[in-house]
Amino acid sequence: MEDKKGYMKKAVLLWFILFVISMALGFSIYSNFSSRIHANVFESMNNNLQFAESTYDVFMNQMKMGMIQASVEPAIKELLLKKDAAALRDLLIEWEKQRYYVNEWYIVGKDGSIISSAGKKKELLLVSGNKMKIQAIIEKALSTKEVISGTELIRIDGSGDQFTLIQYVIVPVLENEGDTIGGIVTAMNLNGDSNIIGKIMYDTGMYSVITAKDRIIASSLESGLYKFNTGTGLPEDISEEVLGKGVPFIKGIEIYNSRMNDNNKYFGAFRPIKDIEGNTIGTQGIIYYDRMAEATLKQIGSFTVIVVVLLISVFSIIAWLYLKTQWLLLKEKQVSSRLGIMKKFSDMVRQASSEDEVYDMLFELLKKKNNITQVVVMRKNYDSNNLTVYKSLYNDKISAIKDIYVSEENCLAVKGGKEFTYNNTNSDIACNDFSSEAESYICLPIILGGIVSGVIQIHSDRKNFFTSDLVSMIKIYIDTITPVISNLRLVDSLNSLASVDTLTKVYNRRYLEKYLEQQIIISKDGSLHLCVIMIDIDFFKKFNDTYGHDAGDYVLMHFADTLKYNVREGDVVARYGGEEFVVVLSRTDIRSAYRVAEKLRKKVENMSLIAISSEDPPNITCSLGISCYPLHGNNIDKLIQSADKALYEAKNSGRNRTRIFGEEKVWEPEEY
Ligand code: GH3
Ligand code: MG
Ligand code: MG
Repeated sequence: MEDKKGYMKKAVLLWFILFVISMALGFSIYSNFSSRIHANVFESMNNNLQFAESTYDVFMNQMKMGMIQASVEPAIKELLLKKDAAALRDLLIEWEKQRYYVNEWYIVGKDGSIISSAGKKKELLLVSGNKMKIQAIIEKALSTKEVISGTELIRIDGSGDQFTLIQYVIVPVLENEGDTIGGIVTAMNLNGDSNIIGKIMYDTGMYSVITAKDRIIASSLESGLYKFNTGTGLPEDISEEVLGKGVPFIKGIEIYNSRMNDNNKYFGAFRPIKDIEGNTIGTQGIIYYDRMAEATLKQIGSFTVIVVVLLISVFSIIAWLYLKTQWLLLKEKQVSSRLGIMKKFSDMVRQASSEDEVYDMLFELLKKKNNITQVVVMRKNYDSNNLTVYKSLYNDKISAIKDIYVSEENCLAVKGGKEFTYNNTNSDIACNDFSSEAESYICLPIILGGIVSGVIQIHSDRKNFFTSDLVSMIKIYIDTITPVISNLRLVDSLNSLASVDTLTKVYNRRYLEKYLEQQIIISKDGSLHLCVIMIDIDFFKKFNDTYGHDAGDYVLMHFADTLKYNVREGDVVARYGGEEFVVVLSRTDIRSAYRVAEKLRKKVENMSLIAISSEDPPNITCSLGISCYPLHGNNIDKLIQSADKALYEAKNSGRNRTRIFGEEKVWEPEEY
């Protein structure tokens, strides 16, 4: 049978499995939702990045188209040929008004030198740190008569470490014959224009950033949220993924950057920006922090936590219920097995024919329980008013307590009329009269008819052994045996009442017959001999008449005592009726029986009856008849009849003598 511990282990395991399942479930719910949301975010970022790229392409195309258109205007050719810088400048200002996003305008001569310029940021492109490179590209455009456009990272002179990315278009201006007479150079500052993208994207919650190869050079400044500071280095992932490995689009880089000054997670998508030679010179990025998505994720997180907590609670309840049911079942099993034991025990005890047998049964039952080292039955001694050891489970161990008479006054079980438990804990007070090596013990009173008639003491070699559970079980045992003991004692006393003659206190005829019956059975088995002496007082009628009936009664008592005290302990004396008695001598042959009969006869003859008359004490005699089993009769009736016949012979031949059945002569002393 599984025990409590086993079920506990199972329940914990069950709970743990369910706990892991709910955690896994929670994790999968959360990661599923979060990856879906992230997928949406990345999708949207990618779209926006493509949008930004195409927007720049559109700007660049517009610049190109505008400049190509301008390059064929007769006015510009005329002014270029005249090299009229002031008029050219006016023209540039006019163009600028039409195309606000263009930052810089230059008119260059045939050799590429600046004739005139205009724009918001003055002469960044051609006065910058990359002047030489741009100059070379301009010269190439002028010599090849091709429109050249591109992007360039420009170091801004005089302003320390500041950089800018510029999209430029160089359009050669050709004379009618086809010779190059100069060129128009225009540039759009991406930094500034990143704000255009930033503005567009602001509504989507995205921010724009422009980086060089090693630093951030611009970000959409309108946003207070976006905290990439220009001039600082790049987040590693951008520089590695986009610039180092040259990955054109990075979807869903999760950037956590301390420079963002908050703990939100930002997502970035970047595209590399290349110069005319195909070298990556920087990136354009979209940074995204989706408040809605984050809030939703947080909600999903809380929801998941709630679900997990709920699941764990439900599973805990399931585990608890499982445990409780198993415990209940276990208890029930224990109870039913206990009940089974109890029933068996009570059935057995009820069949016991003596008190000793009952105690033996109790001992057998208690013996089966581990840690019980001794069981002692003490009986109340009514004369000295104390308890003496009557019986014990282990007799070899009883010597230590055998001589101790537990005084009733000191016995709390007797005094209180209920069990006394000593579990050897700090609060327990040990019994005064107890001297045993037991670590704990319990004393239970045997209460018969409302009176404590004894105590059962149970010893254990373990401290705290007698739990309330065990005590109540033992009490049930005691409750089972007490009525049985009570009954057995009652039957005993009834039996003795029924088998003893009230006047003479020797056995009555009924008992004699039963006894003889039993003895004959025993004698049949072996080759035992038993003899019966039938004794009758001589002339008793006359005695009664002379001294009165009371005196006759006194004589009968005295006579019975004389018989009783002059036979062996195992012999039975019974009053057969009136003044007739029978003595049964077991294991005795005829001669021995005769000797006993003669002894009795003489004792009676010499009986002193001064109590009847001190002056002239009377004397009585008796006649005796002997018959022996199986010689003179092989059943009771024949045996008694034979003894009676022998008695009759004794009477007839003069009384005060002994006769053996079938033998005529009276034996002389030397013959027996
Ligand atoms: P014997 O046996 O010698 O032939 O003469 P007996 O007088 O003893 O003969 P019997 O058996 O006829 O008398 C028995 C007497 O015993 C009769 C009765 O008065 C007396 N007796 C019987 N039972 C009791 C008794 O319980 N108490 C008294 N006091 N006398 C009893
Ligand atoms: Mg008689
Ligand atoms: Mg008589």
